[in-house]
Amino acid sequence: MARVIIIGAGGVGTVVAKKVAMNNDIFTDIMLASRTKSKCDKIAKEIEETLGVKIQTASVDADKVPELVALFKEFKPELVINVALPYQDLTIMDACLETGVNYLDTANYEPIDEAKYQYSWQWAYQERFKEAGLTAILGCGFDPGVTSVFTAYAAKHHFDEIHYLDIVDCNGGDHHKAFATNFNPEINIREITQKGKYYENGEWIETEPQEIHRPLHYPGIGVRESYLLYHEELESLVKNFPTLKRARFWMTFGEEYLTHLRVIQNIGMDSIEPINYNGMQIVPIQFLKAVLPNPQDLGNDYTGETSIGCRIRGIKNGEEHTYYIWNNCSHQAAFRETGTQGVSYTTGVPATVGAMMFFRGLWRKPGVFNVEEFDPDPFLEELGKQGLPWHEHLDVDIEFEK
Ligand code: NDP
Repeated sequence: MARVIIIGAGGVGTVVAKKVAMNNDIFTDIMLASRTKSKCDKIAKEIEETLGVKIQTASVDADKVPELVALFKEFKPELVINVALPYQDLTIMDACLETGVNYLDTANYEPIDEAKYQYSWQWAYQERFKEAGLTAILGCGFDPGVTSVFTAYAAKHHFDEIHYLDIVDCNGGDHHKAFATNFNPEINIREITQKGKYYENGEWIETEPQEIHRPLHYPGIGVRESYLLYHEELESLVKNFPTLKRARFWMTFGEEYLTHLRVIQNIGMDSIEPINYNGMQIVPIQFLKAVLPNPQDLGNDYTGETSIGCRIRGIKNGEEHTYYIWNNCSHQAAFRETGTQGVSYTTGVPATVGAMMFFRGLWRKPGVFNVEEFDPDPFLEELGKQGLPWHEHLDVDIEFEK
């Protein structure tokens, strides 16, 4: 008996619900709960029609601990997969502690009025989860998530010490819209418009947004301009792999995307500060989200692939080696399988695999952990089977690690 509750019925929630249902030999009792129950019901109907699996649905406001507690007491899950928004992480963790439920998410907690991208709030739950004998698995999407597991795998099998890490994230796809974000626009724009930051020789070095960029080559895609930005997994990776001398994160953006983003910033539409509009308090970026294409609706016309991986340099037996490990995911294949585009797919599949690791007892220990703190081997073995095969190259000529 493995009872699992999924919170959030967006693009990622859709993929998690479907993949969990496809693995109903492990996940025997499934509930999908979100703020808008009709979205859960629609997904549940599709699952029943296409997979013949019945899942329960419920409405919950995950900002409210008592609502979560009541739902958890009623459904009695062993694990919650949190794929709502980063704002709900702490309330869901509080409800888990109150009801004895284990926890897994794909994004670090963010206060709604402050974009910080740091784990401190969630790491502060370490003792409470430990004392309660509960597991919390943090950041189990693709990045953070698979990129962190890739790093752990490299450190375990190919290096004595890893020194240089570059996480490279390319979306080589085309959704045929002038401007759209691939996951929740509010979260996405907050992430990209913040200052860049990377780790070098024990210090964090801050850059202006999109200040550092260079063309990088991605397998199966080609050369794409890639921008250095701060991504939350850098914080935990630097802590968990103290031999790292430098850790950076790169993401590709097209000119068209950056031009739209510049305009959005210049006119203040990316602001997270509430403003008064006709006597009503509105947050500009939340209003913007309401008029932008829904990331869940992009899949139909999405062509091309994503390519995300880790480029690592370090030493083994006193000799320097380079290593590249990556996954390419086709937007169309993701859409055919789950009705969502590749970015939701590459997040939802790892979350499902992390939950499988938990129920198999492989990723289960009291406390709060980032994914690189668990054994990477069974996770990566399952990841390929679940639709995200990966590739590795030792001693490739990596173009930019110097
Ligand atoms: P969406 O905006 O598509 O979906 C979010 C879902 O959460 C919606 O169903 C929304 O409900 C629900 N929700 C929001 N607030 C609440 C609340 N208070 N109570 C209950 N439900 C709520 O986002 P995505 O699916 O694109 O992303 C989901 C998560 O995945 C995010 O945290 C995102 O940061 C993370 N992510 C992680 C990645 C990784 O690689 N690690 C990559 C991409 C995303 P409603 O429909 O009513 O608004």
